[in-house]
Amino acid sequence: MRPVRENIPHGPRRSSASDGSRPSRRVPNLHRRIAGTFRPHWRQVLAIGLLILVTAGLGVVNPILIRVVFDSALFPEGGPDLQLLWTLAVAMGSVVIVTGCLGVVQTWLTQRLGQRVMRDLRDRLYTHLQSLSLGFFTSQKTGEIQSRVANDVAGIRVVVTGTVSTILSNIVILISTLIAMSVLSWQLTIVAVGITPLFAIFSYMVGRRRRAASRLVQESTAEMTAITQETLSVSGVMLTRLFGAQNREIERFRDQNVRLSDLEIRREMTGQRVWAGMQIFYSLTPVVVYVLAGYILFGGFGANGITAGTIVAFTTLQARLYFPISTLLRTSVELQSSLALFERIFGYLDIRPDIVDAPDAVDIPIERVAGRVKLRDVRMNYHPATLLSEAYEIETDGHEFWALDGVNLEVKPGQLAALVGPSGAGKTTVSYLIPRLYDATSGEVSIDGIDVRRIKQQSLARMIGYVSQESYLFHASIRENLLYGNPEATEQQLHKAAKAAYIHDRIMEFPEGYDTVVGERGYRMSGGERQRLSIARVILHDPRLLILDEATSSLDTTSERYVQAALQPLMRGRTTIAIAHRLSTIMNADVIFVIDRGSVVEHGTHFELLAQGGLYAQLYDEQYEGGTVEYVREDGVAVLASGDLRLPVAI
Ligand code: ADP
Repeated sequence: MRPVRENIPHGPRRSSASDGSRPSRRVPNLHRRIAGTFRPHWRQVLAIGLLILVTAGLGVVNPILIRVVFDSALFPEGGPDLQLLWTLAVAMGSVVIVTGCLGVVQTWLTQRLGQRVMRDLRDRLYTHLQSLSLGFFTSQKTGEIQSRVANDVAGIRVVVTGTVSTILSNIVILISTLIAMSVLSWQLTIVAVGITPLFAIFSYMVGRRRRAASRLVQESTAEMTAITQETLSVSGVMLTRLFGAQNREIERFRDQNVRLSDLEIRREMTGQRVWAGMQIFYSLTPVVVYVLAGYILFGGFGANGITAGTIVAFTTLQARLYFPISTLLRTSVELQSSLALFERIFGYLDIRPDIVDAPDAVDIPIERVAGRVKLRDVRMNYHPATLLSEAYEIETDGHEFWALDGVNLEVKPGQLAALVGPSGAGKTTVSYLIPRLYDATSGEVSIDGIDVRRIKQQSLARMIGYVSQESYLFHASIRENLLYGNPEATEQQLHKAAKAAYIHDRIMEFPEGYDTVVGERGYRMSGGERQRLSIARVILHDPRLLILDEATSSLDTTSERYVQAALQPLMRGRTTIAIAHRLSTIMNADVIFVIDRGSVVEHGTHFELLAQGGLYAQLYDEQYEGGTVEYVREDGVAVLASGDLRLPVAI
């Protein structure tokens, strides 16, 4: 046998901890794009802005009224004025009530805005991910993807609901309070505001550090999600148990857990000293103001017009000042750390879908599809050294590896074509190119003479049925899984398809029949049952072109017989391209393409190829010789088995 080429392993890649801390890509025009996410909701933003203006304006009314209460109602020169006092009291009470009510409306609007922005981003992200090719998903951890859709977007809600209104309202409060304070006494205002600009500079610096810390936290969260998702899935749990690797996995999880909590602490502690300094400063300033006011009152600074009412009003206003200043500075820090979240989300949104409909792509009605498949000079490189590798964050070593290196083949309508060849030769890759799970790097794949890139993907999906070795089922009922093939199918069609796939009787044995939930990825069913269900699903889909990746050895003889029987009616009248492992399929094939090292090296029928004495003959000799009689079919044909291969022989 020819030596099987050494391939780059592409099995599950376990990442090191450092992998998880790979920085996200820099996103250009970040601020503009964040603002863009609010654009569709400008009316709400405007309404919130107006409400904030009104409530903040109302906020300074009462402190000013306090001055009137003191100076005109309580301690005027002619004695207290009770009438005025009542009027002022009612006015002040009304202001409080109105402010409270407007506050509720404002909160509702901001929550709604936050949810809408988040909903839009989640929608965009999910829709975009659906448009990316298989290449993206093979290069990313599922957990990482889930984490960006769930955790990062959720992180943004807090920022949006918290930040937008917080910034707006606090700026307004700050400005109005400062104006009111300056009107009362500009000298005292300077003392009260003091070194605030210095805090602003500190906050900016803290913000930058927080952004970096935040990015690490999000990456670590994604890594945790990935570990959980990988190891607590059914396949993951099985693998872990079978290799007795629970402790190793627990250890890995713990390490990541410790890392995450340390990072969270680091993020939370960033800036705490600045906040503490600020609090101390603002707590001390009233004392300074009282002392200074004392001096002013005693004419120390020659100022006049300062009354007891002024001082009370001023300190009331001043108390209002600390909150907006500290909130604004804190928010600016939060905002900077949230940039990391936006960066991660936009990072995904910026990945250009590489498999898209051509502008002139056509819809081909299913009844007009004849099913001629042609590959002309097709070359395919899974790691193109293009923008994609950067966008997908795939690490390439610059080494060019051609999975397909000039494949030419043609399958005529209705033919059964078998692809055979050593493992890693490129058979699966050929099968991926027809439904455009990947695109060829060069050359052309066509159906009925039309380049698949010029056929709308929806149309392509409609005409092609793919039965893979690993039949994927959703964690849903059998009915729902079957309807995936054709959501409009009637119950009758469903049963007919299930019968044709030799699975109906088995389904009826379940107490809940078609409503039986198959379990995560269909693990409640046996391998053969899963395959037959997926065949029934394809029967319902009723494609013109069938691609079949035959199971190698996962099925026992009885199951395999059922699967084979299920496949027969499916193949009839359709073009079928089978990655064939069973000799029965190979011998029934109208044409066999022998693929080796990424190209078709021989083609013909079984007997033609045997007569040629080339690679096919060699593979045949090595794999089928010395088989034992496995069973005798009803038609009197004995089936020889050797390894995972079955050979029907007339006796
Ligand atoms: P076959 O089906 O004949 O066993 P494949 O078509 O699966 O072979 O693989 C052909 C080559 O492409 C192999 O060398 C394999 O390692 C490589 N390959 C397959 N899938 C990927 C992938 N997603 N990324 C990178 N290389 C891949």
